[in-house]
Amino acid sequence: MSARAGIVVTGTEVLTGRVADRNGPWLADRLLELGVELAHITICGDRPRDIEAQLRFLAAEGVDLIITSGGLGPTADDLTVDTVARFCGRDIVLDTELEARIAEILKPMMARYTGPGAPDFATVRAANRKQALVPVGATILDPVGTAPGVVVPGTPTVVVLPGPPRELQPMWHKAIATTAVQEALAGRTHYEQQMVRMFGLPESGLADTLRHAEGAVEDFHRLEITTCLRRGELEIVTRYEPEVAGSYERLLTLLRDRHARAIFSEDGSHIDDLVAAALQGRTIATAESCTAGMLAGRLADPPGASDYLAGGVVSYSNEAKVELLGVDAALIAEHGAVSEPVAEAMAAGALRRFGADTAVSITGIAGPGGATPDKPVGTVCFCVALDDGRKITRTTRLPGDRADVRERSTTVAMHLLYRALSTD
Ligand code: ATP
Ligand code: MG
Repeated sequence: MSARAGIVVTGTEVLTGRVADRNGPWLADRLLELGVELAHITICGDRPRDIEAQLRFLAAEGVDLIITSGGLGPTADDLTVDTVARFCGRDIVLDTELEARIAEILKPMMARYTGPGAPDFATVRAANRKQALVPVGATILDPVGTAPGVVVPGTPTVVVLPGPPRELQPMWHKAIATTAVQEALAGRTHYEQQMVRMFGLPESGLADTLRHAEGAVEDFHRLEITTCLRRGELEIVTRYEPEVAGSYERLLTLLRDRHARAIFSEDGSHIDDLVAAALQGRTIATAESCTAGMLAGRLADPPGASDYLAGGVVSYSNEAKVELLGVDAALIAEHGAVSEPVAEAMAAGALRRFGADTAVSITGIAGPGGATPDKPVGTVCFCVALDDGRKITRTTRLPGDRADVRERSTTVAMHLLYRALSTD
């Protein structure tokens, strides 16, 4: 059996949905990478009784590891450490060395608050003394903000992390390096985990291949395969014990044989990362109609996007297509704004306008209005144009409502872009 874990997300703002939980899914991914089976994610408010109930529930389920998020701040409603200590039957003690470390962290922060109404240092330090109260025998995780995390060894071992994701994430990496967590996860079966991503293959096509694999791949039943379709991309996650690594290799060969064009990632990398890498040394410009800048926004997401992103034109109206991108008005009148000739003219216009070597255009009908008998809602035309004359032009019928069509359009554009840049 593999090690099992549970996650307790605390915080009334998360429980009520005012803040969307980012810690549960992020930790779930990390556990998956480690081959640790995630049994449950529970969410509760800041009340100690509720936090304790979830700890009891997970312990009764026999998990090896519990991870909590939130409630480590200096304020009175932050009670997770207290609650966990009580649950683990440990007293709380003041760690004076930790208290001094927190005081050092606070000094530069305090220096930024001046003038009337600024809190005095002694008050702040007293409030933060609370954060230096830790369960006896716990391992301290150095704070990234002001709140230290703790790892309390036991059955189960409990890892207590702060709520803000930018603090929780680096502290998780410190937590898994501790002896307490290593021991909690040791002695269990180690699982390998691999992910393949595909685009442009319907789920039924993959199901057919997997049925075939059942007979063609030895020990197929020992590969734990999960498939997930999202945003038009298919994710295939396979978990297996290292001794059947050969079976996974055979499955991968089969997938490559049958779906070479659809596979874009065999190591879990996302299309956005691949596009960013392929754009190194290039300059890209966008021309967007129905997505109105969403693709440019997506291209700008990775740090360092300024190396290749020149800019984009939001040409929603026909006039904007003509005036900003130099699309011939007669072309629009003849073929309609949502057409391959117009998509090509928009991409050519973006290349010229920005002096770029790569351009992508999107023009489509996001709905709910605007459809015609031969161009239903979801009809979207794309063009990727490179300055050496290479060009990919496509028309797709995307499913879903307005928001789906617009979002999906950016994904299709990313894949066409990647295809254009990775075929010489
Ligand atoms: P702080 O010292 O900031 O109070 P804390 O460990 O006590 O840290 P919380 O009070 O639970 O953390 O949360 C502080 C803020 O962090 C929340 O208001 C929210 O913006 C963010 N946050 C907390 N938990 C989550 C979560 N699960 N997902 C996304 N954001 C979260
Ligand atoms: Mg708090």
